[in-house]
Amino acid sequence: MNGNRGLLIGRMQPVHKGHISVILDTLKEVDELIIGIGSAEKSHTNSNPFTGGERILMLTKALREYNIDTSRYYIIPLEDIACNSLWVGHVKMLTPPFSKVYSGNSLVQQLFEEVNIPVTQPVLFNRTEYSGTEVRKRILNNENWKDLVPQSVVKVIKDIKGVERIQKLNKKEISELV
Ligand code: ATP
Ligand code: MG
Repeated sequence: MNGNRGLLIGRMQPVHKGHISVILDTLKEVDELIIGIGSAEKSHTNSNPFTGGERILMLTKALREYNIDTSRYYIIPLEDIACNSLWVGHVKMLTPPFSKVYSGNSLVQQLFEEVNIPVTQPVLFNRTEYSGTEVRKRILNNENWKDLVPQSVVKVIKDIKGVERIQKLNKKEISELV
């Protein structure tokens, strides 16, 4: 019995207020929510600066900040695999049983629908600002990014020296500059 348990997947590089909004909204529809941290093995690149573990920390602290009942969610790191045709089985191996998926990603929608797991496309909140790409761009350019993420995520990024990491990752080697 898969119960009224849903799955939501995001890379969360980093966790931002759009993720929190969609989690709060989805929790109105399901008894329990599995939050999958996508591309969990990736880190230290421009588009994936934070490790899976750092993103678990951000999400755990943010959900606590928003007083979300800890008995209502599971945070599961999901590493990528090379074969899309095997990916649903890979996800099911790592997660508690679920009966529906929440995702705006068309490949994710296609793969779950092929095995008859219904997928809902969540509504996007303030997408021009609440986007991982936008947060990373602002961190890189020393623009105002702190309002786009929960306070607790600002603290985690500070503790792990995340701003310095993103800025360093974007620097070219001196040899490339001449
Ligand atoms: P990136 O720009 O790095 O791709 P992202 O903001 O798209 O980051 P992801 O980590 O890719 O965030 O997570 C994707 C999922 O998070 C989406 O499928 C969607 O369900 C949810 N999501 C992301 N941004 C928002 C938002 N502003 N409002 C609601 N849901 C969002
Ligand atoms: Mg995205």
